[in-house]
Amino acid sequence: MTGALAREQYPAAAQSWLTVILCERFGPGFVIESSPGMLSIRRADAEGRIELQSDVGVFTQPGADLACAHWDAEREGWTSALSAPLPAPGARELAKPLIERADGLFRIRYDVLGLIFWALARVEELGRRDLDAFGRFPSSASHAAAHGYLERPIVDEWLHILGQVMRLQWPGFAFTQHRSSMKLSHDVDQPSRYAFGSAAAFLRKVAGDVLRRRDYAGAVLAPSMRLGSRSAISGRDPNNTFDWLMDLSDRHGLVSAFYFICGRTDAGRDADYEIEHPAMRALLRKIHARGHEIGLHPSFGTYQQPQLIVAEAARLRAVCQEEGITQDVWGGRMHYLRWEHPRTLYGWEAAEFSYDSTLSYADAAGFRCGTCFEYPAYDANANRSLNVRIRPLVAMEATIIEPYYMGLGLGEPAVHKLRQLRNTCEAVQGCFTLLWHNSTLDSESAKQTYEAVLR
Ligand SMILES: [Zn+2]
Repeated sequence: MTGALAREQYPAAAQSWLTVILCERFGPGFVIESSPGMLSIRRADAEGRIELQSDVGVFTQPGADLACAHWDAEREGWTSALSAPLPAPGARELAKPLIERADGLFRIRYDVLGLIFWALARVEELGRRDLDAFGRFPSSASHAAAHGYLERPIVDEWLHILGQVMRLQWPGFAFTQHRSSMKLSHDVDQPSRYAFGSAAAFLRKVAGDVLRRRDYAGAVLAPSMRLGSRSAISGRDPNNTFDWLMDLSDRHGLVSAFYFICGRTDAGRDADYEIEHPAMRALLRKIHARGHEIGLHPSFGTYQQPQLIVAEAARLRAVCQEEGITQDVWGGRMHYLRWEHPRTLYGWEAAEFSYDSTLSYADAAGFRCGTCFEYPAYDANANRSLNVRIRPLVAMEATIIEPYYMGLGLGEPAVHKLRQLRNTCEAVQGCFTLLWHNSTLDSESAKQTYEAVLR
C-alpha cells in the first residue's frame, strides 16, 4: 500500500452503499461489517456470517494498475453463470480453495465486495487524462479490455457466486428472484431529415441526397416534407421512424424510451430542432399517449457542467408540463456518450432525474460498469452515494455497426454479436439495454437488423 490514500477499511458511506447493492440483489436485511483486512456479511435475524477478504488499498486507488487472476468456479464445485473461469481483477494469484466452510461460516478469500465497489463506482475512470477526441474514457484504456473481459458482466457473475454461498448460509431466507429483461432507448438527434434547421442547411441536405446517396426521389419529395412538417413531422420523412419503433416495441411488450436534446452547446454537433416546435410537441404527445417514455439527451457541451444539464432538464419538463405529460420516472443519456465520472452525475442528481443510461463505451459494446443491472450511483471522490441511478448501456447500434468502431455492418454479424450480448444478460437474469437511434433506420437492412435482435 502506498500514499496517503491507503486505507485499512472501506469508508462507512461505501459500506452502506454496498449494503444497498446487496439488498437490491438478494433481498432485505443483509448487513456488512468491517474490520481491518476483512468484511463480513450478516443477517440481523439469523445466525451465521460470510467473511470476505478485503483489499481496500487495491480497490480504492484511482489509476492503480491492477493485476487480473482467473478463478475456475466449477472446479471447486460452484456454478458459474457463463460457464467460464471468472476474471478476478485486483488479484495476482488466488488462494485455493477460494471459498471454504468452517464452523458455521463461510470464508471467501477474494475481495468480492471491493471488486463491486471498484467496478460500480468506476474507480479506474477517476481523474483519467488518456481520453479520446471527444473527451471520453475509451474502452482501449480500460482494465476490462486489457484483460479481455469487457463482454462479461463480472460484477453479476461474482454476485451469482456470492448468492450461492448466501443460500447455503441462510437456506431459510426468501431470496429475491430476478427476471431478465430488455430496455430499448432511442436518442433523438435528428427527428426529421428535412423539417428543421435553416434553408441553407436544407439545401445542403438535398444536394447531398443526390450527390452521395443518389436519392433522387427523396430530393424531389424533400420540399413538401419540409413544408408539411409545420405541425407534425411528415410521415414520409426517413427519420420519422417513431411509430414503426413503437409498433415493434408494443408487439414485443416493451417500452421504448426517447431521449430529446433540449439545448445547444455546439452548433455543429447538437440537434437542429427546438423542443418547443409544434411538430416536436406533437411527437412528445404521441409518444406519451402511446405509453412510451420521454427523457433527456443533454447536449454536447454539458457533461462537465451540471448546471447546464439542470437547465436542459427544466426545459424538457416545462414543455412536457405544457402538453399535460406526466411521468413517474425521468431519465436520459448524454449526447455522444460524453461522460466525466462522477461529475456528469452531479447534473442528473441536481436535475432530480431518476437515472442515466450513458455508461457503455462508444468504441466497444459490453459491460463498462461490470453489470447489466441498474444501481444507485456513488461518488468515490467525495465518498457519498448519489441520489440518481446508473442504468448501464450494453450496446449502441453505431458501436456494433460503424467501421470506425467494431465495424460489423448491418446484417448477420451484427445480429449475432447483439444476440450474444443479450444472451449474456439473460444468463445473469439482468437487463439488456440497447440504444438504436430513430435516424439510423432509414434502410430495409437496418430495420431488419434491429428487428432480428428483438426477436
Ligand atoms: Zn446523441
